[in-house]
Amino acid sequence: MAAKDKGLGPVKRFGVRYGTTTKFRFAQVEKLQKKPQQCPYCSKFQVQRISMGIFKCNKCLAKFTGQAYTVMPLVVEEVKEEELVKSKDNTEEESEGEE
Ligand SMILES: [Zn+2]
Repeated sequence: MAAKDKGLGPVKRFGVRYGTTTKFRFAQVEKLQKKPQQCPYCSKFQVQRISMGIFKCNKCLAKFTGQAYTVMPLVVEEVKEEELVKSKDNTEEESEGEE
């Protein structure tokens, strides 16, 4: 049981219930959800999630919608792919220049 619980973090609170895969997915979502999130109006990291897709900024009191669990859609992986493509292009160009 101990080996399966690795990487689950606070989701360990569910104990042996609900299955490993479900708990693992929930852990990933919950990590993002509980991270401090930036307000699109005042840029402060004081946004609180009220309900699914509804957020409130504790600094400027703005209430707005977003993704189900985060304010902004996550595009981190796409950016990484673009960077990889760019870096590949650069290396090809450099190698051509050296030849
Ligand atoms: Zn704000």
